[in-house]
Amino acid sequence: EGETVETSRGERVLVLRPTLAEFVLEMPRGAQVIYPKDLAVLLLWGDVYPGATVVEAGTGSGALTMTLLRAVGPAGRVFSYELREEFARQAQRNIARFLGEAGNLTLRAHDIYVGIPDGPVDRLFLDLPEPWLVVDHAADALRPGGVWVSYVPTVPQAQQTVETLQRSGRFAMIETIEALIRPWNIDGRSVRPAHRMVAHTGFITAARRIAGRA
Ligand code: SAH
Repeated sequence: EGETVETSRGERVLVLRPTLAEFVLEMPRGAQVIYPKDLAVLLLWGDVYPGATVVEAGTGSGALTMTLLRAVGPAGRVFSYELREEFARQAQRNIARFLGEAGNLTLRAHDIYVGIPDGPVDRLFLDLPEPWLVVDHAADALRPGGVWVSYVPTVPQAQQTVETLQRSGRFAMIETIEALIRPWNIDGRSVRPAHRMVAHTGFITAARRIAGRA
């Protein structure tokens, strides 16, 4: 995690590995990455646990993929689908650099709007433009009680997602949230919120697969 090295001028320097949150903000990206404030919330709202089988689309730059891999641990599995080959390749490089060889990750060049070729799965994560097109496939792939999580930047997308989940009759406990984190400055007498924060990113919708209409 950390190592002390000596410079050529004899100064001792402590070198630290970046945290996952630091790494995702610095790594090369093809697609936009999910910010740490949302990655943190996605994990708990998606109820990810060690040993879980998770499907995710799209892979993008791999920020969520890495977060999921760490949370499911070596006993879990992550299947991640990406339409664009160059994004998948960049994600693979990012993941290998931070996590090393991830034997429990399967990356597929696949359009999830067409279907979910892996399963049954415990948790599903969607970061793509039209998550409502995945509702039927998700209901087929998720185990009863499994959790759906989707992430979209605009209100019409969130609304269409929720209305499609409601109409399907195969999901319940549908909830939409957004995460705001306000950093603080605590420095001598200057104790106040920071001047800047990441304002809008996306809306998170979570839902449970229920054993309703097959
Ligand atoms: N969550 C990622 C970012 C995803 S960006 C991260 O944290 O790094 C959205 C990605 O979804 C893009 O790379 C896009 O190519 C991919 N995508 C869009 N539609 C898709 C589909 N139908 N199936 C699979 N991937 C899709």
